[in-house]
Amino acid sequence: MTTRPDPPRRAVVTGAAGFLGSHLVEELLSRGTEVVGLDSFLTGTPANLAHVVEHPGLRLVRCDITDYVHVPGDVDLVLHFASPASPVDYLKLPIETLKVGSIGTMHALGLAKDKGARFVLASTSEVYGDPQVHPQPEEYWGHVNPVGPRGVYDEAKRYAEALTTAYRTSHGVDTGIVRIFNTFGPRMRPHDGRAIPTFVRQALAGEPVTVAGDGLQTRSVCYVDDLVRGILLLASSGHAGPVNIGNPHELTVRRIAEDVIAATGSSSELAFVGRPVDDPQVRRPDTRLAAEALGWAPEVAWEDGLARTVAWFREALADGGTGSPT
Ligand code: NAD
Repeated sequence: MTTRPDPPRRAVVTGAAGFLGSHLVEELLSRGTEVVGLDSFLTGTPANLAHVVEHPGLRLVRCDITDYVHVPGDVDLVLHFASPASPVDYLKLPIETLKVGSIGTMHALGLAKDKGARFVLASTSEVYGDPQVHPQPEEYWGHVNPVGPRGVYDEAKRYAEALTTAYRTSHGVDTGIVRIFNTFGPRMRPHDGRAIPTFVRQALAGEPVTVAGDGLQTRSVCYVDDLVRGILLLASSGHAGPVNIGNPHELTVRRIAEDVIAATGSSSELAFVGRPVDDPQVRRPDTRLAAEALGWAPEVAWEDGLARTVAWFREALADGGTGSPT
């Protein structure tokens, strides 16, 4: 593989106006990389980049990458992050999710191929489905229901991984695949349906905090700054992956809800509601490969990440609930 400038001189980020995309853009700009951000604003918003939109190194372009991807000039790195990611979004947008995972990924890979750029696919722990191996190492093939409601997301990402691998083996594109486990932090949407923003919103409003099932199912949650660092390590490594990036510190959903109530100082009580179909029972990354291949380990403790997230939500919700402050 070719030697690449590190940090990259010019990067394309698809899904730039989303939760993770906006944090990646911010970090790339701070490292001196010029960024072209592509986003259709399907589930993201330009408000997520309002604080850097005047940065001379950023060009934010509205574009649906399932239609086409055209970026003039040199590009060293393509970070492909466009896709609805929250269950609430992809259940509402099943075809869009399948299209961005398939056609959108093909277009983003085509861009990397044309430019001779490194390509990083944002895959997901959802490729493991409701796992029968715990914790999940990268070698585990997963336990996914292709025709269940979550299949549109899980299978789109599994297909995207297969396509990325084929572009590497058949076209020689320098690809990397990151399997991202649940990540949280500022700029999640209060109504995106994921557990932490939902709990924080409910607790700040003094409403019951709704825990699915008995709340004994587990999640391992990673603070966004740790994830971004891991992704950029993978981007500069030349490693093909797939590599799990996530925090192996496993918590029950009930414990997450209780900690959110404590962190917000709320008097909210827990309310137990039905479990979604095919909701995974356990989730914890095996991060040995990330440690060995990238020298990566999470650094932000759950309590610290939660405190920063609560502080951000307090301000965002006070501002009208749009999640616009950064
Ligand atoms: P998000 O919904 O906040 O961001 C996704 C962005 O992609 C949005 O800005 C949206 O408008 C854009 N987008 C969607 N379809 C598009 C299209 N056809 N063309 C152009 N832009 C389009 O979600 P996120 O949490 O930031 O997730 C980003 C990526 O990371 C996704 O690929 C997701 O699957 C992956 N991921 C996220 C997590 C997590 O915990 N947040 C976990 C695993 C994987």
